[in-house]
Amino acid sequence: MVTELKQNTPDGERLFVEWILANPEGFILNCTDIKRARDDWRIHRAKCPSMRYNPANKSGHNFTTKEFYKVVSSNKEELQAWALRERGKPVPECGTCSRSKK
Ligand SMILES: [Zn+2]
Repeated sequence: MVTELKQNTPDGERLFVEWILANPEGFILNCTDIKRARDDWRIHRAKCPSMRYNPANKSGHNFTTKEFYKVVSSNKEELQAWALRERGKPVPECGTCSRSKK
């Protein structure tokens, strides 16, 4: 199942953090509504350091409430299909987390 956590999703930040904790093997599409920035769309693993919630930094996380929002799925192929449909071309995987298998 693909879940969209957009800027207007009530409690989106908390839902995103909870989703990562519940789906450590899942995948995250980091995307933005800004058309010219669509080349910045990336698919990350839930374990990617750039997607990690830092409990010590409770006020400083903005996963879904600023220009970027998240679309999450436990199935990478499903997420890639969603991204292809929305963006019109395939979305690359993050260079940091796609290389590490675990
Ligand atoms: Zn990543």
